[in-house]
Amino acid sequence: MDSIVVIGGGLGALFTGALLAKEGCRVTVLEKNKQIGGGLQTFYRRGVGFESGMHLLGGIRPGGSIYKLCRYLGIMDKMDIRDVDHDCMDEITYLSDGKTYRVPEGKENFIAYFQHEFPDEATHIRDYVEALFAIVNEIDFFYLRTSNSHIYTHGEQFMWPADRLIAHFIGNEKLRDVLAYMNPMYGGYAGHTPAYIHALINVLYISGPSRFAGNSQQMAEALRGVIEAHGGGVAGGDPVTGIDITDRELTAVRTLGGQTYTADKYVAAIHPAALLQLTDAKAFSRAFRTRIGSAPNSYSSFCVYVVFKPQSFPYINHTCYYQSDYGMVWHYNEYNAGEFPRGFMYMTPCEAEQGPWATKMIINSIMPYSACAPWAGTLTGRRGRAYEEWKRQRTEQVLDKMERLFPGFRQKCDLVFASSPLTIRDYYNEPEGALYGLHKDCLNVAQSQVPVYTKVRNLYMTGQNVNLHGFCGVPLTAINTAEAIVGLNRITDKINALDDEK
Ligand SMILES: Cc1cc2nc3c(=O)[nH]c(=O)nc-3n(C[C@H](O)[C@H](O)[C@H](O)COP(=O)(O)OP(=O)(O)OC[C@H]3O[C@@H](n4cnc5c(N)ncnc54)[C@H](O)[C@@H]3O)c2cc1C
Repeated sequence: MDSIVVIGGGLGALFTGALLAKEGCRVTVLEKNKQIGGGLQTFYRRGVGFESGMHLLGGIRPGGSIYKLCRYLGIMDKMDIRDVDHDCMDEITYLSDGKTYRVPEGKENFIAYFQHEFPDEATHIRDYVEALFAIVNEIDFFYLRTSNSHIYTHGEQFMWPADRLIAHFIGNEKLRDVLAYMNPMYGGYAGHTPAYIHALINVLYISGPSRFAGNSQQMAEALRGVIEAHGGGVAGGDPVTGIDITDRELTAVRTLGGQTYTADKYVAAIHPAALLQLTDAKAFSRAFRTRIGSAPNSYSSFCVYVVFKPQSFPYINHTCYYQSDYGMVWHYNEYNAGEFPRGFMYMTPCEAEQGPWATKMIINSIMPYSACAPWAGTLTGRRGRAYEEWKRQRTEQVLDKMERLFPGFRQKCDLVFASSPLTIRDYYNEPEGALYGLHKDCLNVAQSQVPVYTKVRNLYMTGQNVNLHGFCGVPLTAINTAEAIVGLNRITDKINALDDEK
């Protein structure tokens, strides 16, 4: 079987590596950070662990595609993953009118809840939710249905802008806004984000969200275990700094530490712009370079992390969304320091031994990369006083909003610190600190994602820039990438066969 070198050691790399290792390939994963995992990494402050990029999980309940995939890889029992509250998976509060929506999981519950809140739109709400499920049903990949082709035909609404899809069914302006509340989970822009992305994320979470108990690193370690159990290796702490390509064939991967790795086949599990920086101009066509160089990235986030004083803030077993006003949700990407934050999501992540009190909170406020443009040329820890002051001011603005939601909030905090789009950029080597890689645009689909296959014969792509981002999209793409190497539907068939045996 083939030897494989995977560049990057994040979610996509580890799933692709684990699937290929299970197929008998000799896999070596190369991660730049000491700690593997990318979006799965957990970091610690004062002994409290924080997930860096994986708070809300979809598709991991029994029957879900990621559940089936993890069961196939034998890692389900190596992770502690819990359901969020069934009767309230998400809580959305609008500061302008003080209204809070408590949205239950489950298709029928979701419909009934919004029908109760907006009785005049009752029929339209059902039609809208049915349309979401119908759109997602067009995507075989999402349901692990085998496909004989990578060419899909889709209904008309599939590629509409997401805001147009909502407006097509829903007349009430407030309800249109509320139904777009998951926007921060997919980086939505009005007029650009395709309806199918909005539908996928909504259907994923309506079907039942989950969260890690303990930390997200456990999944990275479980996947590392699969790779190592099949004779492969995962090396952290040595960035790939160069790849050698001759006559459209990759011949070696070189690292900062002076190591050279060779293999039959290579998988790039990093942003395509970061890949292009590893090689000279001749390796890829000018058209490809221009396309990647000009493709817009999704927006970023300003994250505030809180360690609470003991027994001061209750544990909340679901995600909460804050909106300053109606009409903002499709304009998160526009930054105005005075208005910041227009909206954010906050959660109290679950500890392994979770009681009634929260130990910590993560508050993610959407922020475009341009907000920290003055410090774009700086590196972590050396960004200067003006940056630290800018960060302090933004943190205070977020805390002011938390005070409005929970009077006395600051008194409950033992430690508060923040990260900016620059932190995300440098931590993951993700251009512009993009939350979800390239921005998916229904007006220019070709530009907003890259195929699994590249013009370099033995180089394949995986990760969030190929199909879909996140906890569900990236592992499903890993199956596509692994099957490009071992044979179409080979792994999907095995996953489904195991599921049929149950
Ligand atoms: C703040 C934040 C919160 C998020 N919250 C959620 C959430 O709640 N739910 C959800 O589903 N998704 C969430 N996401 C998105 C999710 O984290 C990503 O979609 C996912 O991690 C992408 O996987 P990936 O493998 O493509 O990239 P990554 O997981 O980022 O992995 C890429 C890896 O490549 C490494 N790398 C880069 N360059 C090199 C190099 N030259 N040499 C070696 N290694 C290199 C990086 O260090 C990184 O480890 C969040 C993202 C962020 C930033």
